[in-house]
Amino acid sequence: MNNLSIGKVVCVGRNYAAHAAELGNEVPTQPLLFIKPASSVHYIEANNTTSIAASFYDIPRDIKYDVHYEAELCVQLGKELINASIDEVKDAINAVTVGLDLTLRDLQTKLKDKAQPWERAKCFVGSCVLGEWVSPDSFGDFTDVQYQLYINDTLTQDGDTALMLFPVYQLLVDISHAFGLQVGDVVMTGTPAGVGKLMAGDKLKLVLGEHTWQASVV
Ligand code: ZN
Repeated sequence: MNNLSIGKVVCVGRNYAAHAAELGNEVPTQPLLFIKPASSVHYIEANNTTSIAASFYDIPRDIKYDVHYEAELCVQLGKELINASIDEVKDAINAVTVGLDLTLRDLQTKLKDKAQPWERAKCFVGSCVLGEWVSPDSFGDFTDVQYQLYINDTLTQDGDTALMLFPVYQLLVDISHAFGLQVGDVVMTGTPAGVGKLMAGDKLKLVLGEHTWQASVV
């Protein structure tokens, strides 16, 4: 795949009812959006047939907060979208992968309690982990895509885009109105249930059909 440079990463919160429930949150009536900066991106380099173990995030030794994983289907824009219609978004996706929206969960809870922005919990260097991009050609309209996160060989998150509250095309329309999207921008489309804390030594495997990416927590 062409590696387009990323301007921003738009993330979607609470896009699966079961995940909203596990964190005690209401289901939103419109997409809950936030942004990670390009400096948060860390790629897991692998190819379709060979999995390469890589340490993707050096948890600082003095870190005060728990790092939680959220596995998410991610798409990259190949076309600018400003105030787009549903027809305009259909050919806008250049590439697809699975990523991890890493979150300092206890810090996020503190910030939420104080009605402060989430960025300190969501935007640290390495907080947006992305598998290498694959072609979008076999994913249809993205309403029937399955993806998984295994931790230490246990199925931990089992994603199915059919269960999204706001499907991928609808998200792109909404984001194009809220922020606008440029070529290279990434959308993390929300996490299914099963989020939890990463532990040093955990072996992670992200799966999207025939594609797998592996990483370990150091
Ligand atoms: Zn997320």
